[in-house]
Amino acid sequence: MTPRLGVIGGYLGSGKTTLVNRLLSGALPGRTAVVVNDFGSVNIDADLIVSAQGDTIELSNGCICCQLSDDVSRTMKALAERDDLDNVICEVSGVGDPGELAAWRSYPGFSPGPIVVCADSTAVVRLSRDEYVADTVRRQLGSAEFVLVTKTDLATPGDVAATRAACESAAPQADVVQQDTLNPQLTAARIFNSDVRPSTAPNSVTADAHTDVHSTCTIAVPGPVDVDSLHRALSAHSERLVRAKGIVQDADHRWHEVHLAAGRVEVSERAPGAPVPDCARLVLIAAGADRTAALEKARTELAGVAGVVPMTVPGR
Ligand SMILES: [Zn+2]
Repeated sequence: MTPRLGVIGGYLGSGKTTLVNRLLSGALPGRTAVVVNDFGSVNIDADLIVSAQGDTIELSNGCICCQLSDDVSRTMKALAERDDLDNVICEVSGVGDPGELAAWRSYPGFSPGPIVVCADSTAVVRLSRDEYVADTVRRQLGSAEFVLVTKTDLATPGDVAATRAACESAAPQADVVQQDTLNPQLTAARIFNSDVRPSTAPNSVTADAHTDVHSTCTIAVPGPVDVDSLHRALSAHSERLVRAKGIVQDADHRWHEVHLAAGRVEVSERAPGAPVPDCARLVLIAAGADRTAALEKARTELAGVAGVVPMTVPGR
């Protein structure tokens, strides 16, 4: 059996893990391994992936596209040697370039799946013009074979049309696909199983210092936390942070996923039986010239929420 290797990318909070979960929960036949890389020292995405088979491999402490080449080659070679897999999905960090992993699709033992880049229809037009992150976003789109326009249920028809136009201009080589809002699983399966015509044209957007434009810090949430207070405290920073995510526990021992993306904060209860982390944490990410100050301010103010302990200093 030769597993199909697909690569999923897209900016922070664009819906990559949601797409991976859709593929894992029935959209892909057979057995699938997921390689996941978070920007940050803690791999929250690995806890957010619903892997029925436990085949989730975390690559931490660096960006998969430019900092972890030894880990990547060890992991990919081991996966290529396995004979029990139908699919391998590589989820690139929200600042990484999925195109850097494209060549692994022709490594002996793999057959090529697509490079899919998620584009949040409420954010990508703004991000692709942002002084600090536009290069990162445009380079990701420039590597795509498929662009999946996500979060269309939160966007106006005008936003969606503008998103499609921005993606078609930044990714002229790609098919821009809008998610079927009624059956997003179908869209996910259709893209992943499409015939791939690997692009021979090199990405025309130059490599940027994407890891230098973004900074991250981790906050421990060891105690039970009041999720409403946490929601409020995080909302106060929704414009200054580009992303926050984590899993926390409330006083009734219920687990909640916490997300901040594109200026919106969402806290939702974890499905019963979903994996929970050993240690509850929140990862914060900021971009731009004021990123260190933004992280520090958020860290300090979140420490005022009961159950939250500022743990690590901003990294990277
Ligand atoms: Zn990178």
